Amino acid sequence: MTVSHPVGAAKGRVLIVGATGFIGQFVAEASLGAGRATYLLARPLDISSSKAKTIKNLQDKGAIITHQGVIDDQEFMEKTLKENEIDVVISAVGGGNILDQLTLVRAIKAVGTVKRFLPSEFGHDVDRADPVEPGLTMYNEKRLVRRLIEDSGVPYTYICCNSIASWPYCDNTHPSEVVPPLDKFQIYGDGNVKAYFVAGSDIGKFTMKAVDDIRTLNKSVHFRPSCNFLNINELASLWEKKIGRILPRVTVTEDDLLAAARENIIPQSIVASFTHDIFIKGCQVNFSIDGPNEVEASCLYPDESFRTMDECFNDYVVKVENKRAEATADGITAQINVKCAPIRVK
Ligand code: NDP
Repeated sequence: MTVSHPVGAAKGRVLIVGATGFIGQFVAEASLGAGRATYLLARPLDISSSKAKTIKNLQDKGAIITHQGVIDDQEFMEKTLKENEIDVVISAVGGGNILDQLTLVRAIKAVGTVKRFLPSEFGHDVDRADPVEPGLTMYNEKRLVRRLIEDSGVPYTYICCNSIASWPYCDNTHPSEVVPPLDKFQIYGDGNVKAYFVAGSDIGKFTMKAVDDIRTLNKSVHFRPSCNFLNINELASLWEKKIGRILPRVTVTEDDLLAAARENIIPQSIVASFTHDIFIKGCQVNFSIDGPNEVEASCLYPDESFRTMDECFNDYVVKVENKRAEATADGITAQINVKCAPIRVK
């Protein structure tokens, strides 16, 4: 399908794959917010599905051209990239489809006009982190995609944004959709290993800043916002302040996490293996960013702020209050019996 170029094309046309997904939505919103000509590639959708609504919402926000197809169809991808003169391709395919990107990389290489490819990373530096199985399999796949990109000479940027800003449940792939605990905290190990938390909107925002920044060409961009460098004990205390209550803390040991990983229930066991890597082994913090091929987002963009965990937790308080209001209307208040402290917005 050939299309006329929308407003914003002067900045470079961006094709986003996976915009109906969790991370992809943040990236698509940020691309549109930055005034980019934003193209979406979506798999064929049932028109009544929630994903179709997501696409419609994104279309309503800007001049978006949606292509129906898959990245593992090389001919289709080459045609899409050529006809729309795509400059930047951002992939946010999910963990089960990482290897589909091998065909996409081949299409980008064949077309030869794409100035930057951002593969589906959006987590840890997969060449450094070393989770147990089944998380390791996903990392091996992401490593394979990296090697093909590098061997093909496709210009790239790897986004290593660390953890999404939310309570890091050890069995939930999209924890930011779930409010932090209201009954008890599960504390991994001694709860003192730190991690970096980044709001979904900031994953989108800083990704879009990096897409055509010469300083990020063929580099990994690590997100290490100092304001959100917290261990799980600190995270628990912050949430307790928000809800105005102290909750019991239950220890989840290293062995518990390894046992959950060994169960090999997908995707929960993958999340358990990552939780072990982050909060027991310290995979986000056990290295410094000083290699020639790596940069840090706060250093690149010192004038741009990250949303703080404090602000993100305020959003969850609102969610809890909304749920409580709904439950009250339904006459089931006992299920959400939460006393929230007044929200302190700095
Ligand atoms: P989702 O499963 O939520 O979404 C995946 C998207 O990719 C969907 O839009 C899906 O389309 C699309 N897709 C999958 N395969 C294809 C294909 N062959 N062709 C075209 N589109 C395709 O993914 P997530 O957002 O969970 O994951 C994205 C990345 O972010 C992953 O690399 C993951 O590891 C990482 N991640 C990081 C987190 C963090 O805390 N840092 C948290 C969660 C994920 P459809 O709608 O048709 O299914």
